[in-house]
Amino acid sequence: REAKRYLGVADDLKLSVNAAEVLKKRYLLRDERGDVVETPGEMFGRVADHISKAESKYGGDVESYRSLFLQMMRNLEFLPNSPTLMNSRLELGQLSACFVLPVTDSLPGIFDALKNMALIHQSGGGTGFSFSRLRPKDDVVRATGGVASGPVSFMRIFDTATDVIKQGGRRRGANMGILRVDHPDIMEFIEAKERPGFLENFNLSVAATDEFMEKSRGEGEIDLINPRTGLAGGRLKAAELLGLIATSAWRGGDPGIIFIDRINAAHPLPGEIEATNPCGEQPLLPYESCNLGSINLSRLVRKGELDWDRLAELVSLAVRFLDDVIDMNRFPLPQIEEATLSRRKIGLGVMGFADMLIQMNISYASPQAVALAEKLMGFISEHARAQSARLGEERGSFPLFDSSRLRGWSAMRNATVTTIAPTGTISIIAGTSSGIEPLFALAFVRRVLEGARLLEVSPLFEKMAMERGIYTPDLKVELAWRGSVQEIAGLPQDLKELFRTALDISAQQHVRIQAAFQKYTDNAVSKTVNLPAEATVSDVLQVYRLAYDLGCKGVTVFRYGSRSQVLYLGNGE
Ligand code: ADP
Repeated sequence: REAKRYLGVADDLKLSVNAAEVLKKRYLLRDERGDVVETPGEMFGRVADHISKAESKYGGDVESYRSLFLQMMRNLEFLPNSPTLMNSRLELGQLSACFVLPVTDSLPGIFDALKNMALIHQSGGGTGFSFSRLRPKDDVVRATGGVASGPVSFMRIFDTATDVIKQGGRRRGANMGILRVDHPDIMEFIEAKERPGFLENFNLSVAATDEFMEKSRGEGEIDLINPRTGLAGGRLKAAELLGLIATSAWRGGDPGIIFIDRINAAHPLPGEIEATNPCGEQPLLPYESCNLGSINLSRLVRKGELDWDRLAELVSLAVRFLDDVIDMNRFPLPQIEEATLSRRKIGLGVMGFADMLIQMNISYASPQAVALAEKLMGFISEHARAQSARLGEERGSFPLFDSSRLRGWSAMRNATVTTIAPTGTISIIAGTSSGIEPLFALAFVRRVLEGARLLEVSPLFEKMAMERGIYTPDLKVELAWRGSVQEIAGLPQDLKELFRTALDISAQQHVRIQAAFQKYTDNAVSKTVNLPAEATVSDVLQVYRLAYDLGCKGVTVFRYGSRSQVLYLGNGE
């Protein structure tokens, strides 16, 4: 088989070539000479062995959970986040994808955060920071009688350090930088990534308050507040500021917005959340970490129907797995260990939603897709909570349970249980559509890792077009060129409807799907609202408004062609 050639070891799970490529580059263990020494099946064995050890702490049956965990991973029904796959049983042993570090307004505070970032990146995690506590540019620095350089200049140091520290040679680190909308340097922050090559290892998000969002509906102004003094200095029209955010995002995808008051209102614990992890789906308190895992929905369709019974089983098993991960985790810092163990947040989500819809003959662009998204996530959330409550009875609730809003339950093992991750690489391993995103294109070149490129044609489209006898070499060429079937003459209308890609779906529908998942997700939802190249700034503003009004916790837009992307249409080479 082709995959074996890539792997250099047996392809015991019959994975796709793309999956083999990714596993070989980053996941499978190697010997001192750099040769791959484990098969994909053995990798899952290593993870199952390691994670199931936690069961012994609570008198659980290690062997039977080992085999249940192994089965769901080998079946590609559930995968944990990359660090769990990479680092299980290794000395490093850091298993979480998401971290948030505090940045305080002093040189030691800033450089502590920088050092801690380096340690986390080295261990495979991604870091989020709020820079809102830093005094603005040109503010006084009493110690030196000088002036401050401001949040954006300090972010450059974090960016450069990220460049230098490769994560065990496997991937470069990722960061989220957040600034409150009422920080005096907000304008500089909004435009920071418009300069070519600047802050390339950062996603940026503006933390928008409810006050700001409400005032932006009309003529209202907000005060800009110096975090060092707490004093207002300057006012800005909210609508104009939102317009600037939209313009920058229209130009290059950054910044995103997070609705910070809503995030805090939904958070069941004391303490103020100021930041999220790099892709935005996991708001966390300072020093918290969280491990994620995703159920592959495309594996659960039988004869056009979702297998709800297996889904319920997988949810229970996955919550148990993710809770076990916390006990097996090696935390990079004592503060992180303390913050994480006292709340035990986990983030169970899904991938393969778009592939599932296609198999169920439901268009992503339809109201049925929105209704099903709600029903599905409601179901997952209910079963995940119930399992966390059972684990709470068996193993004890998370230590801060009594001070949380969850104390109405009799017990609860985890302060949060659900998150929708992007599943950027684990969805490639699982051979399915990423997270809750629609198909990006039906055929495309994927740029992975350091410059490698892979051509992919949607296997579902291939299969369906073959069944109908319309899959000709000409069609394949046209597909590779266009990426979408909408403009290809002579294709059946129902097929066109079913195979709408990210850019054939309205921005409003992208937001409605995100909101449907958010309704039943404790943490947040990773979703990109794709816009066509010809979309306007006012389209972006409408997306913001809709996302806010429908209860999303944040929103990220991406206008096609507006900056270098991970995914390219067939002709976007
Ligand atoms: P995966 O598919 O590899 O498990 P996701 O694409 O679902 O990862 O991303 C989940 C989270 O993992 C991100 O929000 C971020 O916190 C972290 N992450 C992703 N990519 C990186 C990276 N290159 N370096 C560090 N952390 C990352």
